Amino acid sequence: MGVPENIAIGSHIWVGDPELVWIDGQVLNINGEEAEIQTSDGKMVVAHLSKLYPKDTDAPADGVDDMTKLAYLHEPAVLNNLAARYKINEIYTYTGNILIAINPFQSLQHLSDVETMKRYKGATLGDLSPHVFAIAETAYRAMIAEEKSNSILVSGESGAGKTESTKMIMHYLAFLGGHTAAEGRTVEQQVLESNPVLEAFGNAKTVRNDNSSRFGKFVEIQFDKKGRISGAAIRTYLLEKSRVCQVSDPERNYHCFYLLCAAPPEERERYKLGDPSSFHYLNQSNCYELSGINAAQEYLKTKRAMDIVGIGEQEQEAIFRVVAAILHLGNIKFAGESDSSVLADEVSRFHLQMTAELFMCNPTALEDALCKRMMITPEEIIRRSLDPLGAAVSRDGLAKTVYSRLFDWLVSKINISIGQDSSSKFLIGVLDIYGFESFANNSFEQFCINYTNEKLQQHFNQHVFKMEQEGYTREGIDWSYLQFVDNQDVLDLIEKKPGGIIALLDEACMFPKSTYETFSEKLYQTFKTHKRFIKPKLARSDFTIVHYAGEVQYQSELFLDKNKDYVVTEHQELLSASKCPFIAGLFPPASEETAKTSKFSSIGSRFKLQLQQLMDTLSSTEPHYIRCVKPNILLQPSIFDNMNVIQQLRSGGVLEAVRIKCAGFPTHWTFHEFLTRFDILAPEVLGENFDEKESCKKILEKIGLTGYQVGETQIFLRGGQMADLDAQRARL
Ligand code: ATP
Ligand code: MG
Repeated sequence: MGVPENIAIGSHIWVGDPELVWIDGQVLNINGEEAEIQTSDGKMVVAHLSKLYPKDTDAPADGVDDMTKLAYLHEPAVLNNLAARYKINEIYTYTGNILIAINPFQSLQHLSDVETMKRYKGATLGDLSPHVFAIAETAYRAMIAEEKSNSILVSGESGAGKTESTKMIMHYLAFLGGHTAAEGRTVEQQVLESNPVLEAFGNAKTVRNDNSSRFGKFVEIQFDKKGRISGAAIRTYLLEKSRVCQVSDPERNYHCFYLLCAAPPEERERYKLGDPSSFHYLNQSNCYELSGINAAQEYLKTKRAMDIVGIGEQEQEAIFRVVAAILHLGNIKFAGESDSSVLADEVSRFHLQMTAELFMCNPTALEDALCKRMMITPEEIIRRSLDPLGAAVSRDGLAKTVYSRLFDWLVSKINISIGQDSSSKFLIGVLDIYGFESFANNSFEQFCINYTNEKLQQHFNQHVFKMEQEGYTREGIDWSYLQFVDNQDVLDLIEKKPGGIIALLDEACMFPKSTYETFSEKLYQTFKTHKRFIKPKLARSDFTIVHYAGEVQYQSELFLDKNKDYVVTEHQELLSASKCPFIAGLFPPASEETAKTSKFSSIGSRFKLQLQQLMDTLSSTEPHYIRCVKPNILLQPSIFDNMNVIQQLRSGGVLEAVRIKCAGFPTHWTFHEFLTRFDILAPEVLGENFDEKESCKKILEKIGLTGYQVGETQIFLRGGQMADLDAQRARL
């Protein structure tokens, strides 16, 4: 970047700051290419001129509701604008047609009540202040007018407010497309009530969010010809299974376990449930309660929601029996030698009995399924005992399998009972999916999550780019030099077949002698020269991917295990023989066909396929984007932490959208707006009485600016040109 011409002594600028990311200040002196700056917090700093950004001193103190209205569109201006708005509880801001939503961490009632919905109904985007309702309204109107499916993609990191925004969208669509004569259970009621059910089983408290969704979700709401909701389909992605048996302090397991422990006494007695702290799957953490939540009430609420989505009384009983069984299962401990394992004590025996009773299976068969394995050799079948550690792994494996089958059952039951409208021509899809993750430890889950985000990022970039082009075409201006940076190379690295990371992982999983070390070694060899792949120095098996949102170092230790989607035959046989039809139904006998072909089924490959289907669906829709932002990690209102926010804007693609805009003509001003600000540069032009467009042209000619374009209704300026004009204005 060259030295900006528009910075001189006295200029108001933004300069980098280690704490605030950007701070405003004034240039006091310039020596060569170094500027001496007094910052607004009273410090003196020296910075290279190329590192400074001009500050718009005319910007309104309360910010602007669309970033594209910023006179100078650059990172510090974007950040400052969001901060100014957040201060006055304006949590929504557009960047063109992308909505940025900053979590208020407090209930802003006026933002989501029916009165507000009524105001947004029928309003054009931009007429009212930015809002998720405005996005939903636009999607709905576009669907009706253009007879085309739309989608709303909600993204952001954990705790940013995706699920809350998604629920507001669903409420709004139900408000628009609801059936007035609400007799019994309407489709829209069922759609809305699917949320508490799925949250009870798929959400948990984490350090990042008390109600964190541990799965991705795409809800397809179908509409009939009259624009009324006629059906819906829910697809879910990658439930975090490990949480069922492994919880670290101060997180929690899935909500349903705690809710059930707070059930009415007769139910607790029936399932022999005590305090959550008496269960191994829960007491690995010291956190049992959620602030502001009454578990007993939540339990009843969940059951009521189940009633509405069509889960009958008997099914509910079976569902919670399975939940209770998993808790008891977790309390079974094993002891013994290296070549055998037995139940550790009488307490374990009690829990084994309870588990078998609740699963309605034979206790001896359960014990065998946990402690023994059959080995089938060409000559004979050998029964081998597992050691105590192996038995515990087997127990946890069973718990995870049962839980994830239960979750899948819930999703499919809700889908069946809401019903699909096969005659529906258009739908609105709402995607609530995990944002980019980069932790101290990153395993297979983060790999899949970040892969998802790469896919969505590509879709996002293509869309933003296309919108920009369309905007320019509409105004009849040339956009041929717009550059487009693609992330296809990262996607190839991950998903290319053959040879991508997922394919190599599958290979490793199928080859019995593979270890995570041989897998990593293979990656190092294969991608030695790949621009997006790094073998970290000192690392023996870690690998780093250069994602669009930054580098992430992955630990490969558990990649192989986690990629194997495998149900132990003994577990399958045990539960498919359950006397409870519900449980047996969770374990249908494998058909001959699948038994033969699917010796190994890979989570990674299946996920890749699911993602591809999702992308295909999305590509056939008109997308709308909502970027949720978490303003602080304390989860508290009124704290806007610049460092946190800027990272999310970077990884959420907001700055990428800004970059794409800057590469073209970031400033679009109507002729009138332009004249109001700059007529002072050529007052004689106005005296001549030209029309507004002509006047603008004359002014621009007079100042000798180049590279700008004059459209049908607006002036299009290149990045930095606005600041140049202002600098000229300031010199007058
Ligand atoms: P995760 O990826 O962990 O599921 P998320 O992005 O879905 O996170 P949410 O569960 O939607 O995050 O939001 C976290 C919390 O933030 C909510 O439980 C709520 O307390 C608060 N919150 C989010 N959005 C709003 C809002 N619009 N108004 C008030 N509070 C909100
Ligand atoms: Mg969520």
